[in-house]
Amino acid sequence: MGKIIGIDLGTTNCCVAFVDNGQPQVIPNAEGSRTTPSVVSFAKDGERRVGNVAKRQGVTHPESTVFAIKRLMGLAFESKNAQKHARLAPYRVVKSDRGDAWVQIGEKLYSPPEISAMVLEKMREVAESYLGEDITEAIITVPAYFNDAQRSATIAAGKIAGLEVRRIINEPTAAALAYGFEEKEGQRVAVYDLGGGTFDISILEIASGVFSVKSTSGDTHLGGEDIDNALVEELARRFKESTGIDLRDDRVALQRLKEQAEKAKHELSSSLETEINLPFIASDETGPKHLEATLKRSELEILVSEIIDQTLGPCEQALTDAGIKREELDEILLVGGQTRMPMVQSKVADFFGKQPHRGVNPDEVVAMGAALQGAALAGEVEEVLLLDVTPLSLGVETGGGVFHKLIIRNTTVPTRAREIFTTSVDNQSFVPIHVLQGEREMAEDNKSLAKFELAPILPAPRGVPEVEVTFDINADGVVNVHAKDLGTGREQDIRVVVSSGLTEEDIKRIIEEAETYKTTDEKRRVLAELRNAAQALLYTSERAVEECRELVAEEVIVQVEADIEALHQSIDDGDAIAIKDGLETLELSAYKIAEAMYGNVEFDAPAKGEVQSDS
Ligand code: ADP
Ligand code: MG
Repeated sequence: MGKIIGIDLGTTNCCVAFVDNGQPQVIPNAEGSRTTPSVVSFAKDGERRVGNVAKRQGVTHPESTVFAIKRLMGLAFESKNAQKHARLAPYRVVKSDRGDAWVQIGEKLYSPPEISAMVLEKMREVAESYLGEDITEAIITVPAYFNDAQRSATIAAGKIAGLEVRRIINEPTAAALAYGFEEKEGQRVAVYDLGGGTFDISILEIASGVFSVKSTSGDTHLGGEDIDNALVEELARRFKESTGIDLRDDRVALQRLKEQAEKAKHELSSSLETEINLPFIASDETGPKHLEATLKRSELEILVSEIIDQTLGPCEQALTDAGIKREELDEILLVGGQTRMPMVQSKVADFFGKQPHRGVNPDEVVAMGAALQGAALAGEVEEVLLLDVTPLSLGVETGGGVFHKLIIRNTTVPTRAREIFTTSVDNQSFVPIHVLQGEREMAEDNKSLAKFELAPILPAPRGVPEVEVTFDINADGVVNVHAKDLGTGREQDIRVVVSSGLTEEDIKRIIEEAETYKTTDEKRRVLAELRNAAQALLYTSERAVEECRELVAEEVIVQVEADIEALHQSIDDGDAIAIKDGLETLELSAYKIAEAMYGNVEFDAPAKGEVQSDS
């Protein structure tokens, strides 16, 4: 069996890890970074980039750079969160045929799982090139509060990226695993996760190797980026004060400023002072302007103290929901890159009344925990039993549009509930069932998972037929429904379909598209390389013709000139095979010039792609 890698598919960054000799290890990407921005950018010619390159294009090409796609996973277009994201994101968010929130780039529509798949594929490549083997299986992490649709969308993304998702696990659970908590008995742990754009707090109970998430809370629009923005505002304000120029009006300048602000923020996590230098950031009649600033850690702290305080309300809420007092907590775990900031650590320590646990890189723990779970499933390390809770209640719609809960939130999964349904009029031939997830009283205010009809029901007076419906939530948090007519004994599996917004056929089509995309990509690369080689040969051949015209037999020159002409034509046509042929023909005829010049030397035709030395 191959390796099962662990992937932290973050809103801002992704991280991939595997287990080597029982130890989880993060795999660095080609640029040497241990995390990769979850950003995809699309160029005009359809070429797409993922990671750092894509992130850099964010401000200059905002409408074709997709970031924070995780926020749209499994959401209906009309939902409050999708609407909010649509308002804030610089790329277009549109409504798909089925009512889901999708992304439009140019003319093309992309579902959120497709975009996430591009990021996952990049992570798979990172792992494959590092490990030197094909990777086909992964554990992917999601926030503990992700509902059925969001989890299914994540599984779909994995599938599109060519990964079988062996298990979906909750991010705080993965973090606790990486911190080695399965070894400790009867622990109550708070996982404080401040990432780039989201804040999550979860309270976990760990006993006999069983992890259960007791409660979760947070803020889906609060994170490191808010700190970057505050810093950008401050630097732009200072610059305007001294030069009168507003950098916020210039996209390129703003992009440079943003990059530097984030870098300065990182530096201030370990030093007390840092320099920001942006030469030629702007200019006016008096000439070019440079931004030079010194920033102290204390200045940054004053600027963003309030932002960090906003994480404390949800912490309070999570404790209340879990029914646990602060002093009853055994450990506080820090997760998310932003918790590297000393002020975050001290505010967390003050709030909980104890020092948070240290020792693991906060932006890597989640991927490491996922890798450990992967190794457990692969039988490489001892199996750890993971139990999570369902973040939302599951139920059905009953008379008058009321939501009737069958499994209440914070129930440990896997779990199951049964309910007997019957008819409300005489001789009713089917029973309609509407499955929903959420906490609101009225059905319409909750997330609809599926609508289906139990049929056929034998003719009978109302209230007589009995259909038992079983609702299962599996270890991934995904819902399954099964029905049994107690009269006839007939059973029926109901597919709670398309909660990811994509059908199996959709997924298949997208995978096929991605394959063609790969082949066109490959073709494009081959063509570019051939063109390059052809142009180099054309250059030297044209020079040779010019210099040796008088010194070589005329028919040789005529032939070379004809071959040059033909190769130019093939390049213009963009036909790879013709270019290759033309290249070989010209090579042979051009050698004749050299042969004539240097006498009858034996020429070894150079192998393709080899550079000839000067000797
Ligand atoms: P997510 O879970 O949202 O994908 P991460 O856990 O990777 O995100 O956190 C990303 C955030 O952490 C970014 O805002 C980044 O600037 C911030 N960050 C990373 N390293 C540091 C550091 N050394 N000091 C302060 N913030 C940091
Ligand atoms: Mg994260």
